Amino acid sequence: MPSDCLFCRIVAGELPSAQIYADDSVVAIRDISPQAPTHILLLSRKHIASVRDVTAKDHDLIGKICAVGTELATREGIAEDGYRLVVNVGRNGGQTVDHLHVHLLGGRHMSWPPG
Ligand code: AMP
Ligand code: ZN
Repeated sequence: MPSDCLFCRIVAGELPSAQIYADDSVVAIRDISPQAPTHILLLSRKHIASVRDVTAKDHDLIGKICAVGTELATREGIAEDGYRLVVNVGRNGGQTVDHLHVHLLGGRHMSWPPG
């Protein structure tokens, strides 16, 4: 685990977070700067810098992250009205933390296209 990675340190419990879900491969926390009434970050336990670094051996992990997203959207009461899963990739994609994560945003209408 890269010792300087913010999300590795959160997953390891070295830094505090508002954790709402954890299993052997995925941890979910509330975003520290929420952009919607519900703004959850789905983190891989394993350090992968970006979704563009995902390889065939990570396919189950990606499926798991999506399934946990569905479970948490249901738990948050936003599944029926709809929500958005967002993966920012690289500098132009707006990625600021280089550790695989999926944003789960909901509780308000989302506009399109994104900024
Ligand atoms: P991204 O810009 O896609 O890399 O997303 C990184 C997200 O991490 C942003 O939405 C930040 O608000 C969020 N964030 C940064 N630091 C923390 C933290 N300590 N706890 C929870 N969320 C954080
Ligand atoms: Zn990491």
